[in-house]
Amino acid sequence: GLRSRHSFLKALASSSDSTHFDFLVIGAGSGGIASARRAASYGVKVAVVEKKALGGTCVNVGCVPKKVMWNAAHVREIMLGAKNFGFDVDGHDVGLDWPMLKKARDDYVSRLNGIYAKNLAASEVALLEGAASFSGPKSLRIGSKDYTAEHILIAVGGQPRMLDIPGAQEHTITSDGFFELAEQPKRVGVVGGGYIAVELAGVLHELGSQTTIICRGDGVLRGFDELISTTLVEEMKKAGMAFKHDATPKAIRKESEGLIVELEEGGTVGPFDTVLLATGRVTAIDSLGLAEAGVETDKRGYVLVDDYQNTNVGGVYALGDVCGRVQLTPMAIAAGRRLADRLFGSLPEAKADYDDVPTVVFSHPPIGTVGLTEAQAKEEHGEGNVRVYSSKFVNLFYGPWRLAPEEKPKTAMKMVCVGEEERVVGLHVIGMGADEMLQGFAVAVKMGATKADFDACVALHPTAAEELVTLS
Ligand code: FAD
Ligand code: NDP
Repeated sequence: GLRSRHSFLKALASSSDSTHFDFLVIGAGSGGIASARRAASYGVKVAVVEKKALGGTCVNVGCVPKKVMWNAAHVREIMLGAKNFGFDVDGHDVGLDWPMLKKARDDYVSRLNGIYAKNLAASEVALLEGAASFSGPKSLRIGSKDYTAEHILIAVGGQPRMLDIPGAQEHTITSDGFFELAEQPKRVGVVGGGYIAVELAGVLHELGSQTTIICRGDGVLRGFDELISTTLVEEMKKAGMAFKHDATPKAIRKESEGLIVELEEGGTVGPFDTVLLATGRVTAIDSLGLAEAGVETDKRGYVLVDDYQNTNVGGVYALGDVCGRVQLTPMAIAAGRRLADRLFGSLPEAKADYDDVPTVVFSHPPIGTVGLTEAQAKEEHGEGNVRVYSSKFVNLFYGPWRLAPEEKPKTAMKMVCVGEEERVVGLHVIGMGADEMLQGFAVAVKMGATKADFDACVALHPTAAEELVTLS
């Protein structure tokens, strides 16, 4: 408002120096932008440094373009099913103009970049373009210029991890490369079983590419509730996706028929037109000069911080993916705003709450989850104190489809309760609509709702979500 604008101008006037700031933020991604703008709203002098595009991973090579592709895949899925409702659509004839889809997506992302630039300017946050590296605990070097600040925030995020095996560098792409694909690949091998692997494999398969997930062990989404990960594999297989389990790539080679993945376990898988590595991410700290400032990281490269995002160096903070704890956009935003509230907003105790953070996986079908898995709850609260309610059913959407019951896509749900009062400590849903279903339920979990509270709410009928208030 006016007051903050006024104090901003005062701050500018009092410092004739354009290289000194109250708050310097490295990285204009989810966390950095949120923190910088919140700080500026308190009237302090703020700059954000960015070496690539405004918006960071989420806007440019993450959540946003991924969701556009997921939506496109969902549209095709609906079109292929339309004949079950009497529409005259020959499922196999739905042509996809991939270059058109890519252009629409890229144009949308460019528009968002522009909106971010406008918002920064409107908040009176200075933008410094280039790569920053520490030249001391309170100073940064960008190009040939030095900048100083009372407070410096590291919000540099991460990037895809390339496997260090022969042929990976030349013959594979990562999620960044997925967003550059100019044509739709016909045969794709997706290496990994995490969020990114199941999301991009699902998108490619539903858009009509022949897709194989190549993963270690027998499942995907390790760390999710077992009902979720096993149902996902069942549903993906039912939808025709191929899996190569117990498969760790040791080399990638190019043959005349396509790319071949050689496996540690013996044998090969392929041929593919594209091999997409989704084998985790690394922090973007390589040329950040953390040693110059004395900032400590753990051995995986995550910057070490306390609950208030303080690093070991006074006046230097870190948050978001570079810290490795809950690597999600809304988490980085929340941590960024709380930090600015604490440093500049007279809220000395402000800190982000990392408990019960809901998350959605945009797989096919999608997943929504919040809180503890059954296994975590049993470990934390003791087996005898945990009661679990679950359900698996066919969404009414598929009711009239001309498919045998076992061929119809399933929705699965699990509610994990603790103690005599049956406080709900975990909710896990996979199936059509799960992505849009969980936000409100996560509020209830966060408020400490019990199974009885859920049951006391009258159902919305007929929906899939109603199952969560009628579990028995
Ligand atoms: P980032 O958003 O990565 O921003 C860091 C910025 O710092 C970048 O712009 C980078 O260029 C810049 N930078 C780095 N080093 C320097 C330097 N030395 N100098 C200047 N600038 C520098 N999360 C969700 O919540 N929902 C989703 O659906 C989702 N989907 C995803 C899909 C994919 C494919 C990926 C890869 C991620 C997804 N995520 C999703 C995760 C989400 O994108 C991240 O958690 C979030 O972007 C982290 O924000 P951040 O601020 O920590 O870092
Ligand atoms: P994850 O950590 O989720 O998954 C990495 C996968 O790579 C695991 O399946 C792992 O297997 C496998 N892997 C690791 N090393 C190797 C190897 N050498 N050979 C074979 N496989 C290997 O990372 P992602 O990159 O998928 O995602 C990173 C983070 O980004 C997520 O944790 C999430 O926070 C965020 N994200 C969020 C999304 C959302 O909100 N919808 C979407 C996408 C990303 P194993 O299990 O055997 O260790």
